[in-house]
Amino acid sequence: MILVVGAGFSGATIANLMAEDAGEKVLIIDKKKHLGGNCYDYRDKNGIMIHAYGSHIFHTNSVKVWDYLKQFTDFNTYMHKVIGLIDGIETHIPFNFNSLYDVFPKSYAELLEQKLLDNFNINTKVPILEFQKQDDDDLKYLANYVYHKIFLYYTTKQWGASPKDVDSAVTARVPVYLSKDDRYFQDRFQGIPLQGYTQVIKNMLKSKNIKVKLNTDFKDVDWKRFDKVFFTGSIDEFFNYKFGQLPYRSVKFKLETHNTEYYQSNACVNYPNNYDFTRIHEYKYYLNDKSDKTVIAKEYSEDFELGKNERYYPIASDDNYELYHKYLYEAEKYPNVYFLGRLGDYKYYNMDGAIARAIELYENM
Ligand code: UDP
Repeated sequence: MILVVGAGFSGATIANLMAEDAGEKVLIIDKKKHLGGNCYDYRDKNGIMIHAYGSHIFHTNSVKVWDYLKQFTDFNTYMHKVIGLIDGIETHIPFNFNSLYDVFPKSYAELLEQKLLDNFNINTKVPILEFQKQDDDDLKYLANYVYHKIFLYYTTKQWGASPKDVDSAVTARVPVYLSKDDRYFQDRFQGIPLQGYTQVIKNMLKSKNIKVKLNTDFKDVDWKRFDKVFFTGSIDEFFNYKFGQLPYRSVKFKLETHNTEYYQSNACVNYPNNYDFTRIHEYKYYLNDKSDKTVIAKEYSEDFELGKNERYYPIASDDNYELYHKYLYEAEKYPNVYFLGRLGDYKYYNMDGAIARAIELYENM
């Protein structure tokens, strides 16, 4: 008998493979009252699919992950775009060639575009901290402009630290994109599950070999009686925080219903410089839900505090990795317990990365 702790994508993938491929009996528990972990979504009274823990857009280049997930859902052909409001002007994020023309006079945009084409290959992605290493005065000006207008204050709100003090891989997720492609992701496969993420997880767990128990804390289960345990909660929690807590950033969402068909021009609008929130999500865009009302969510970042809010983002730093590795080392004493997922691996996975990790763990077992 197998125990899976956590019913997000990591837990659902490993539970599904253990039950349907290996033919094992699986109990999957989650302390939340719903399936899906932070991918949980639901239709509200207006028929709008709400992503309860913020926008989730599925995207992957992995044929394996895509084919695996396609067993459980169809996707719409949604390609995510993000608008950023810079000095009152709506422009494209990642900042790209089209953004130049949004924010600068045409002649200056043309000059910058030409200089960029002279210095970089078209369609390259350059992390902002790399992009700042320019010799040319105009490109230096541009790099500082993008750094200040798009990254500095957004990152300060999101992480409580400046872009130079957060792990460079974090800001590199949203590079400067020397392209006219306005999409947020360039992955081969992208979309939103047609019946929502919660339904995908439900479908993954539909098996005569799987039993699901919600509202169930790991602490209340006698895990030692299971042959194997897959733990997708935070690894420090498993060890009762004996070496101290792993830090996370959290976010909270303030939902508003508006009596108008659409509130903003796009599913996601970032506010790098204004207001306390980082971005506003307008959920009806994702599945093109029809309603004369609309629901938006303003996203506010804050530190994770045990018992107060949810873990969202592991914080990459030497100290935190050192602490994580202490727990990982401790985990070696329990060869039948496997840690995975954003919290179990303390790693900023996207959904496809979490699924790929679970599949790989299963295949290597
Ligand atoms: N970022 C930024 N300004 C933006 C968008 C992103 O500074 O308008 C930075 C910020 O540090 C953020 C990181 O890029 O945490 C990664 O952004 P992404 O959209 O990938 O974050 P997620 O959607 O996972 O919260």
